[in-house]
Amino acid sequence: MTSNFTSQRPLRLGMVGGGSGAYIGNIHRIAARQDRHWNLVAGAFDVDAARGHAFAANEGLRAERSYDDYRAMIAGESAREDRIDAVAICTPNFTHFPIAKAFLEAGFDVICEKPLTATLEDAIALEKLVRETGRFMGVTYTYSGYPMIHEARHMVSTGQLGTIRTIQVEYPLEWMATAIESEGNAQAAWRTDPKKNGRGGSIGDIGTHAYHLAGFVSGLKLDSLTADLATFVEGRALDDNAHVMLRYEGGARGLLWSSQVALGSSNGVRLRVFGDKASLTWFQEQPNELIHARLNSRTEIIKRGADGLSEAAKVRTRTPPGHPEGYLEAFANLYAGFAEAIRAKHDERQPTAIGRDIPTAYDGLKGVAFVDAVVDSTAAEDQPWLTPVAV
Ligand code: NAD
Repeated sequence: MTSNFTSQRPLRLGMVGGGSGAYIGNIHRIAARQDRHWNLVAGAFDVDAARGHAFAANEGLRAERSYDDYRAMIAGESAREDRIDAVAICTPNFTHFPIAKAFLEAGFDVICEKPLTATLEDAIALEKLVRETGRFMGVTYTYSGYPMIHEARHMVSTGQLGTIRTIQVEYPLEWMATAIESEGNAQAAWRTDPKKNGRGGSIGDIGTHAYHLAGFVSGLKLDSLTADLATFVEGRALDDNAHVMLRYEGGARGLLWSSQVALGSSNGVRLRVFGDKASLTWFQEQPNELIHARLNSRTEIIKRGADGLSEAAKVRTRTPPGHPEGYLEAFANLYAGFAEAIRAKHDERQPTAIGRDIPTAYDGLKGVAFVDAVVDSTAAEDQPWLTPVAV
């Protein structure tokens, strides 16, 4: 494929999935447009082609760039001078692998939703394909887009917490507390079907976010884990609550909780990292703040946008402190990072700060390997400590 790339122009984005009534596709579209790095120009938005075309027309896309399915999209876009620079895959988990593989093989960069794939075998193959093709693949681990998460990572890596002793991370949700999958909720239906979702229920859907966040901020490599998955909603084929104990290299310990049945909790992602000098707490409902507590000292609240924060936090900040930024800006930071990574690759230079420390295919593979080890640990009689194949 010849390149018509100039790194100054907005990049051209295509999307698979994310059509009418879908959840995450709309978040991708808002995030991609926010900083003018991307224009959405093509799509196969729906498993139902007619619905997808109607959606594309509503979005203002030219009819010739609304495709019946992703294969037609690859054929159509490959033939164009102004072809898309990358595709965003916003479909249910089991479709990520064939769609991503086809785009990578056709020479396109890819932005893929988590979990990377529904099976470990597919995740290993996909990550290998990314390396072999030399294409870029970003994986949307949303929470690593927050500036205060980057600040926390910076503080840990510069020794401000001392030696890390324990990490407590949780992602509780309540929306699947009853059997909504059998009452017509399409999003819950595929999430509770092992063939479409993968082996891990809550642990695959949201536990992977928590796992990524803990590793991203602490910089620690997992050694092993043991897990206890539970299914509270009768008849559900996958876990809806997960407790995982983590042992990190170097001796730090961790505890991870994900739940889809935690009444009163809506995306209450919380991370606490405790070192021998200080601790940090971050909570998604107050994402502009980090609570920093030092031994025998006053506890301080570090605010996004304040003077003296790290470069990594600054480049992900748009407004002065006090004006709240949140989920959509965090997602836009990922899109800004992906754009910068793609531009830097094209220009054969190192990415600037926004394009560094972004989630990629290997992080996606680590997430799927984590889920696999969690499910295996629970399934075994004595719940052994297991090391995921990629850590
Ligand atoms: P959804 O059910 O709301 O939407 C899925 C969309 O994909 C629908 O428009 C459907 O028609 C379309 N689709 C399905 N198969 C397709 C195909 N072969 N070709 C084209 N379109 C197809 O799902 P969702 O809740 O938006 O989740 C989608 C993905 O995003 C999942 O992998 C999920 O894990 C992930 N997700 C990530 C986050 C995050 O924070 N990063 C949040 C929610 C969901």
